Amino acid sequence: MGVEAALRAGHYRCSACGRGRLRPWGFARRRRLRDRGREVLLRPRRCRCASCHVTHVLLSNVAFLRRRDLAEVIGEALLARFMDGVSRAAVARRAGVHADTVRGWFRSFARRAEEIRVVFGALAHRLDPMLAPIAPRGFAPLDALEAIGVAAAAARRQLGPAPLWSFVSGATGGLLLSNTSCPLPLWR
Ligand SMILES: [Zn+2]
Repeated sequence: MGVEAALRAGHYRCSACGRGRLRPWGFARRRRLRDRGREVLLRPRRCRCASCHVTHVLLSNVAFLRRRDLAEVIGEALLARFMDGVSRAAVARRAGVHADTVRGWFRSFARRAEEIRVVFGALAHRLDPMLAPIAPRGFAPLDALEAIGVAAAAARRQLGPAPLWSFVSGATGGLLLSNTSCPLPLWR
């Protein structure tokens, strides 16, 4: 389910009061994002709590918080680098961005790799309690990507198909590559 459908169905709870359901409340300022170097415009949804009336802006799950490139572009770069060992320069060319930008993605992902592994491992087992333990590969970013893959496959089986990196953005509240100390939402 996309952000818009989930919002209309009343699936989002207000983070300010923790009680009310969020309802659509117009749109926030347009956000410029990049899709392999091409500019795309996004109109983030603004919503308001039915109970305390605080307004929030919902990040569309095609993007990560404070990253200009689409989640899918960043996700494919992570897979190419850590799974397939593609060089940084080649990854940057494919993604249509500067080599320093992909270096930033890799560094942020590697820094949070252990937390990402734990969060997606928990999510995978919550979606499918019969799942076998995920075998470690001995390299933190690879273990994190493995956990993401297993959780995404479990989500597809239980909830139906969704684009991989939109699922990842939605499951982490957009925080996958965030450098803040804000923890990822934990699924238990
Ligand atoms: Zn509220």
